[in-house]
Amino acid sequence: MSVCLSCKKQNLVDRITQQEYEFKGETLVTRQREKFCPACGEVTVDPVDARNVRKTVNDWEARLDGFLISDEVRRIRKKLGLTQLLAAKIFGGGRNAFSRYERGEALQMRSTDNLLRILDSHPELLGEILPQTDCSPQSGTNLETAMSGDLFVSQGVQVNER
Ligand SMILES: [Zn+2]
Repeated sequence: MSVCLSCKKQNLVDRITQQEYEFKGETLVTRQREKFCPACGEVTVDPVDARNVRKTVNDWEARLDGFLISDEVRRIRKKLGLTQLLAAKIFGGGRNAFSRYERGEALQMRSTDNLLRILDSHPELLGEILPQTDCSPQSGTNLETAMSGDLFVSQGVQVNER
């Protein structure tokens, strides 16, 4: 039996809280696992579970809004052989942009979404963008290093990614 971190009593109850979301005429119901202390009212949410719920809600909203969902962003980035860091240099949005998109924590801009869709259908077009990307040594990304596989994904093995 787990102890309440707030009042130290051993009476925590596992419960599931449902939350209903409405967006564009659609409804989504999420279930969040919680521990509830009847003595003091403290509610503890499992952080992993909370992240999963947030990702579910954000993916659902993204899809209804006509955006790629987080797993699709990851799939396309990997298909293009890009690390999250190099993808951020190409598409913009800051160093951690793709990490956040792919965890469903942030939504990519429409222009990034459109470009990802085009590159998904025509991956060879990446070659037209890459030379314009800031891959200079002082930027922390070197194109030669990138090409050698240090920043790119080589043979399905992901390298240099957080
Ligand atoms: Zn308590």
